[in-house]
Amino acid sequence: ARNFSAGPAILPESVLEKVQSEMLSYRDSGMSVMEMSHRSSLFEEIISDAEQLLRELMNIPEGYKVLFLQGGASLQFSMIPMNLGKGGKVGYINSGSWAKKAISEAKILKVPNMEVLASSEEDNFTYIPEIPETDEAYDYIHITTNNTIEGTAFQTIPRFVNAPIVADMSSNILSNRYDVNDFGLIYAGAQKNIGPAGLTIVIVKEDLIQTENKLPSMLDYRTHIKNDSLYNTPPSFSIYVAKLVFEWLKDLGGVEAMVKMNEEKAGLLYRTIEESDLFSSPVAVNSRSLTNIPFVTGNKDLDAKFVKEATSLGFLNLKGHRSVGGMRASIYNAFPYEGVKELTEFMKAFEAKEGK
Ligand code: PLP
Repeated sequence: ARNFSAGPAILPESVLEKVQSEMLSYRDSGMSVMEMSHRSSLFEEIISDAEQLLRELMNIPEGYKVLFLQGGASLQFSMIPMNLGKGGKVGYINSGSWAKKAISEAKILKVPNMEVLASSEEDNFTYIPEIPETDEAYDYIHITTNNTIEGTAFQTIPRFVNAPIVADMSSNILSNRYDVNDFGLIYAGAQKNIGPAGLTIVIVKEDLIQTENKLPSMLDYRTHIKNDSLYNTPPSFSIYVAKLVFEWLKDLGGVEAMVKMNEEKAGLLYRTIEESDLFSSPVAVNSRSLTNIPFVTGNKDLDAKFVKEATSLGFLNLKGHRSVGGMRASIYNAFPYEGVKELTEFMKAFEAKEGK
């Protein structure tokens, strides 16, 4: 089967095989990683290797901390305003359904001086909105680098002289080229490009969190920094699998090699959509995502028929999000080129049968 799920998403087969081979006894310890104390030296090696590998892969400079947290990207919607909001202005870019959730969480916290600086909501989030330049001071400006549901992505990261960028990178961390120096904070749920659900990665510039805010310990970045992500029991098994995924990515040649592969995969699918008279992309050409690719026939019944036939042939989870309709192929790092090729062949066969 070919699994196009938007998340949790497929993991590299070699990683799953490695997990299987170590499932009952990790390095002859007689224990599964699931059964191991998070204070043991074996686990401490796993978490510090995971951090080191991620630092290498993303070229994370000194001065940035890497945190392994829980609560999903969704908890970061709250932790970010709590920790980085210092009473000044905060800005949000409303580029998709997840950005909107981040905005609504900041509203619940009654963050003062919140501004939505740009939005494409009125056009169903089919493009990345133009962001006005500003040299005014903001505690932070929040963007969503890749909008998972709508299939759009920032092609360049905006720069502001007086505002650090906070980025939700849940659906394209490690699949696009980014310079960590362009960001004050990056966060991502693990379950698309990194590993099993339950782990959330936060990469934060340390000098941003010198805050006076009094926060519950678990919601305070300083707690997790001080304790190297071991304040309480971390999602240890997910961290272990993430470490294996980082090793896999490094062996493949790192992010640069991965971006090339992702461009080939996405390029093939976008070309097929463009050359088709049946399928079209609902997304503006200059805003296209490399990892989530929606397409529609313009006819709901035909969309449903496509998804049904695709499913019966083993192309799974192609149904588009209910807010967009049609189809969506999520093709994160672990998704192989051959799977995209097979999908495009099926699309052509379906068009020959059903097309105008
Ligand atoms: N942000 C983006 C861009 C996402 O794609 C998702 C999940 O799909 C989330 C946030 C929510 O993540 P989580 O389920 O880890 O809370």
